[in-house]
Amino acid sequence: MSRYDGGTALIVVDVQNDFTDPDGSLYVPDGEATVPVVNAEIDTATAAGARVVYTQDWHPPSTPHFAKDGGVWPVHCVAGAGAQLYPPAAGGGADRAQRHFR
Ligand SMILES: [Zn+2]
Repeated sequence: MSRYDGGTALIVVDVQNDFTDPDGSLYVPDGEATVPVVNAEIDTATAAGARVVYTQDWHPPSTPHFAKDGGVWPVHCVAGAGAQLYPPAAGGGADRAQRHFR
């Protein structure tokens, strides 16, 4: 029995350049190692007819979220820069991404 069918969804959370690419500004060590696992799940879910939804952390160039503006985080996931979905896992998801702002 498949974990997915037409009534289920796979939610791919924040697989973005700044978190997943070794050159990303808030790179998670070995983040790129998750990509083959994510891609296999996307393929399994898609083949079973499930919906695949992508989320993106998404910021303007200045926000109280960033240390330079009084927050705690380095600049990351700025729209038009490191916020893009990490290409090996994007799977065409950019058209269906749900962006979350802070
Ligand atoms: Zn953020």
